[in-house]
This record gives sequence, structure tokens and C-alpha cells, in this order.
Amino acid sequence: SEFVKEEFSHGMLRTKTVEDILTPLKDCFMLPSSAVLDFSTMSEIMQSGYTRVPIYEEERSNIVEILYVKDLALVDPDDCTPMTTITKFYNHPLHFVFNDTKLDAMLEEFKKGNSHMAIVQKVNNEGEGDPFYEVLGLVTLEDVIEEIIKSEILDE
Ligand code: ADP
Repeated sequence: SEFVKEEFSHGMLRTKTVEDILTPLKDCFMLPSSAVLDFSTMSEIMQSGYTRVPIYEEERSNIVEILYVKDLALVDPDDCTPMTTITKFYNHPLHFVFNDTKLDAMLEEFKKGNSHMAIVQKVNNEGEGDPFYEVLGLVTLEDVIEEIIKSEILDE
């Protein structure tokens, strides 16, 4: 039946993890919190085409805030507004998830939360030192939906 087929084709939501589908950190368009919203930075953001830009402090692995491109609507590039003025004003919540989060759980999180992006981290306990959280990349609702669509096409 249709029901069985649905269940079957979406079975991967229970087995695949966010780590399987994330956008790796090296490919993420992000900006440092020290950035200034001048003409050059604002052009770079517009040209990236993304709607959300993670903001990091010192290192790319240290994501501290998130800028929504729509936050820039009232920003005048001539004012050279510091990035942090805008991110502190809007203060959008930043969501972190672990790398082994299954896609069904992630989908539920996205459905109930107001943000459709999460930063994926894992506990790194390789090496000599103390375990630490390592940021692997980001995942959005779009990535989960794309995975569902792919599996439906394969199933036909
Ligand atoms: P957008 O609305 O910015 O297009 P989506 O949520 O539709 O973002 O995601 C589209 C794809 O882009 C997904 O694969 C997602 O992981 C990726 N993505 C979203 N934001 C960024 C970013 N700032 N840098 C790199 N990739 C991103």
C-alpha cells in the first residue's frame, strides 16, 4: 500500500544522521564577528546568495552568532556598522546538534523550532588531550528535505 511505501522510503530518516548530509565547515560561508558592515562586506554577503551567515570569533570553528541577510535591510553601508551591533540587536538563537542526530529527530527539531539551521558538532576524543567539541559544519531543513526527495525518486 501507499502507507507501507511511505514508511519504507522514509526509513532512511531513522538511520541517516546529520553528519551524512551536512555542509562541511570548510564550505560554509561565514564572517568573523570583527567584520564591519561596509559596502565591501555587504556586497560579499549579497553575492553569497545565502539567507543566513554564521558569525565566528577568532576561528571558524568557534561559531558564536548568526546573521540573517534580512537583518541588513536597514543597514547603511556608509555607516560602517560593526557586525556585532547587528547580531547583538537581533540575537537570533543558535542551535547546536550532535553529529549522530538522526534525520527524523532533526526534522522534528526543525518543525518545532523557529530556526531551520543547526550547527553540527561532535565530541572529539581522539588524541592525547581532553575531549572537546568539534564543529563539523551546518545542516538546514533544506538538506533534510533534499534527502527525502532523493530517497523517493530512488524508490520509484
Ligand atoms: P539558503 O536559504 O541560504 O539558500 P537553505 O536552508 O535553503 O539556505 O540551504 C541550501 C543549502 O545551502 C543547504 O545545503 C545548506 O546546508 C547550505 N547553506 C545554507 N547556509 C549556508 C552558508 N552560510 N554557507 C554554506 N552553505 C550554506
